Amino acid sequence: MEHHKLIIIGSGPAGYTAALYAARANLNPLLFEGFFSGPAGGQLMTTTDVENYPGFPDGILGPEMMDAFRKQCARFGTELLRQDVESVDLSKRPFTVNTKKNSYLADALIITTGATAKRLEIDGAGEEGFWQKGVTACAICDGAMPIFREKDLYVIGGGDSAVEEAIFLTKYGRKVFMVHRRDDLRASKIMGERALNHPKIEILWNSVIKKIEGDKVVGSVLIENVKSGAQEKREAAGVFFAIGHKPNTGFLDGQLAQDKQGYLVVKPGTSYTSVEGVFAGGDVQDPVYRQAVTAAGSGCMAAIDAERWLGEKGHI
Ligand code: NAP
Repeated sequence: MEHHKLIIIGSGPAGYTAALYAARANLNPLLFEGFFSGPAGGQLMTTTDVENYPGFPDGILGPEMMDAFRKQCARFGTELLRQDVESVDLSKRPFTVNTKKNSYLADALIITTGATAKRLEIDGAGEEGFWQKGVTACAICDGAMPIFREKDLYVIGGGDSAVEEAIFLTKYGRKVFMVHRRDDLRASKIMGERALNHPKIEILWNSVIKKIEGDKVVGSVLIENVKSGAQEKREAAGVFFAIGHKPNTGFLDGQLAQDKQGYLVVKPGTSYTSVEGVFAGGDVQDPVYRQAVTAAGSGCMAAIDAERWLGEKGHI
């Protein structure tokens, strides 16, 4: 079985940054980028312009940015494999990492498998409909697109993310409607009040979107009141899912401590997980910030923690 000092599981800003630092520390990391689990590069691969990553004054396309991250960590000797990790065994050392075809041994692991924004199976919201043509799951990534300017926008959800995204979208849209399935917000009181008091936000209570229609991009939504059953077709340019994220931890089979939402728990201010020698960075351990730049930063932390830990334990 191939034995590595460090294996990184998951691509995206956190994984590639961890690999960059680890490779420059001569750890010769092996990075599993994923394949069926999602595009190598993670959530940014389904984003268009990234305008909030420092260093790119004119913005950069998400896939272009991930390509650059990838090349940069490869340049210093990261071995990249476009394969999914199916399971790991953290019960004995070295750890075992299993793909469909092979098993690998690792003295240390960094988990950077990210999170997946939850989506609803609404008629017209899928890839064959208007996904990324007005329907998205990240207002902060996509909200500034010209198609949303001065138009009516719809955010689905009643939590803090929905409020935050709705407020963000008021910078661009004519009006932002929050479509919430109940008559009470899940969002914290302070956030809820911001939405309720915002002149450009209106909450459609007890409501769901049944259908999204349009020509090349989103043009309308069909809203249903779940109490009365009444339906109304309304003009719309954008539909934003803000119904939470699901961290990608299935392959770990509960071997690392998770919080009640399923995010990996790390020791505050570090990347140490509940198993010594296993580190985590990026969205898989971040229910709060979830930005490319914070993911990259925490990937860097994971690599530095892993390098120090490997040194202390005499592996390097
Ligand atoms: P969340 O708190 O789980 O809220 C998800 C919202 O989506 C809920 O209102 C939920 O409705 C709705 N929803 C879920 N499934 C749905 C479905 N199938 N159909 C329709 N609606 C559905 O998730 P979140 O807002 O992403 O927040 C996650 C965590 O991050 C929270 O702890 C939050 O406080 C935190 N956060 C904090 C901030 C901040 O403080 N600035 C910003 C963002 C997130 P119900 O209410 O009916 O369940």
